[in-house]
Amino acid sequence: MQARHSNSLYKRDARPEFWQLSMRCCVLAGSIDVAFFFIFLWLGSPILAWINVISVAMYVCAYRAFVHRRNRLGFALIQTEVLVHAGLGTVLVGWESGFHYYLLMFIPALFVSTRARIAWILAAHLWIYYAGLYVLMWYMQPLQPISSNALLGVNIFNLTVVFCMFSYLALFYAITVTRAHTSLSRMAMTDSLTGLFNRRQIVALTEKLLARHHRCPTNLTLMLMDIDHFKQINDEYGHDVGDRVLVTVSQHLQSLMREQDFIGRWGGEEFLGVLPDTDLEQAAETAERLRKAIQVLEIDNDGKKIQVTLSIGITQYRADEVLSNAIARADYALYKGKSSGRNRVEAIQA
Ligand code: GH3
Ligand code: MG
Ligand code: MG
Repeated sequence: MQARHSNSLYKRDARPEFWQLSMRCCVLAGSIDVAFFFIFLWLGSPILAWINVISVAMYVCAYRAFVHRRNRLGFALIQTEVLVHAGLGTVLVGWESGFHYYLLMFIPALFVSTRARIAWILAAHLWIYYAGLYVLMWYMQPLQPISSNALLGVNIFNLTVVFCMFSYLALFYAITVTRAHTSLSRMAMTDSLTGLFNRRQIVALTEKLLARHHRCPTNLTLMLMDIDHFKQINDEYGHDVGDRVLVTVSQHLQSLMREQDFIGRWGGEEFLGVLPDTDLEQAAETAERLRKAIQVLEIDNDGKKIQVTLSIGITQYRADEVLSNAIARADYALYKGKSSGRNRVEAIQA
């Protein structure tokens, strides 16, 4: 039972946009029903007018249910309101009133709010209800007929509302899908902790750059950076502080690089910088600048300053070699930097 409960909670949270949209629909539909209250009073149909007051109350309750995350209750209230209102409106005023259009709005709502199998079953029931109403009105006269001009007006009004709501829904979903797509591709390209490119993306970007230059780029330098004794930071201050140090160092490194350079998180506390149009000498100057900047960086931890240093290995890409070869050379330069005492820059010629 507990598992089922948490499962359903998960499902409710799985489509937050849908529930947000449901709340907006409550406000919209409630406002339309307020308009209908006055329209039907004006048309001389007080019964229909008072039905709209009940509808508004139901939308208020549904909205409150959504606010308190009782999404199922909220959706059930909307569902009941639309089904009863569309049915009553049709039976009282006639099929030509167009109240049945609102039932069609359930079709997309069903499929986004629940599992496909259940949605199909509910859609079939909705079809039976819709077709049943149509057949019923084929043989039956409306119970509260209004003038044919008023009927035309109500129909056009309902049609307009449903057109607007469908357009709004479609736009909302298009925006939601685009946003989800953008966020997914960002997640696939970046490291979640530091926000830098991840290893896969930095390799992909470098390979793309190499392909653009037919694997003969002029002066492409690779820079592998590793925080010294980072394990000690974790051991002394804890993993969370370690994470914060990683984020701060990443931000600094990124801000210190040129626009055409790119940097990614290569592994735990290692970063790879790719510097196009930069010879080894220029790269060594840049690396030195980065090293000094990190050396003086002070990261505050409850009033205590944490400082770290960087060891940097640099090398140039050699025409036609595989990228992993050049990276291995930068790694070797880094290893040399570590074994010569850390907090230093080591370069290896291509
Ligand atoms: P060296 O100077 O030789 O590089 O020593 P080091 O301690 O920096 O290197 P080592 O490879 O021994 O340890 C790296 C540490 O980085 C160990 C690992 O727990 C930590 N680490 C890796 N990824 C993360 C992370 O995302 N967050 C935190 N807080 N620590 C991490
Ligand atoms: Mg390290
Ligand atoms: Mg390391």
